[in-house]
Amino acid sequence: MGRWGHRLFEGDQDLDIASEINDTFEDKVPLSHLVFQTDMLAPNYCKVYYQTEAYAAELAQDVVEMRQKLDAGLGNKLFDIYRAKEHEGGSFGLGSGKYRLILVGALVMRTGAKIRDSDLQHLRELVPQIHSSPGFALPIFDAGFRDPGKAQFLAALDHYTPGTPRNYSEPSCFTCGKVEADSGKVLLRCSRCQGAYYCDTECQRAHWKAHKPACIEPEKQWSLNV
Ligand SMILES: [Zn+2]
Ligand SMILES: [Zn+2]
Repeated sequence: MGRWGHRLFEGDQDLDIASEINDTFEDKVPLSHLVFQTDMLAPNYCKVYYQTEAYAAELAQDVVEMRQKLDAGLGNKLFDIYRAKEHEGGSFGLGSGKYRLILVGALVMRTGAKIRDSDLQHLRELVPQIHSSPGFALPIFDAGFRDPGKAQFLAALDHYTPGTPRNYSEPSCFTCGKVEADSGKVLLRCSRCQGAYYCDTECQRAHWKAHKPACIEPEKQWSLNV
């Protein structure tokens, strides 16, 4: 099991669950394609392609098409199916139905599709029931959120606007999860590791204890698995 970041969809766990969600209907909903840009095993030519404008245009088109499908009824069906199965597995276990439902919410927000108020409310109630690790966790215990991913999910919920896609690969504050569009602030980047972002020095200070072990200068980062 690998992980290359602490936020949503920056680890195999999340991507595996996203692929599972793709297969919910016979007519597949390839939602995982909308979050798959950061896989550390992607060959180099793919990573280069992900930086191009051609890819950005293709992705934006995919997001619109997927939103239309979800708004036409598949979105509500997804919530119905995964809410019915949310008690499968424990909150800590890998097969946790609750965490899977969180990712259904994250993927639907990725497209900006409509979400019923009752589902939004339910997602909010689920978040505190999911295990979250402050920083490093051994792969065997690596289920659920890492704190920066949890904050990212909560900020996505708070700022959810139907019709506006939420892009999880955009930089977000590691403490409060906000992206620049939420706060109107240009995010600061940790000057040492270049890998963590914050709204301001206050958010940076709040996360320092958890971030310190992972804060390694880029040239010394020999291990990809965080
Ligand atoms: Zn912040
Ligand atoms: Zn750092």
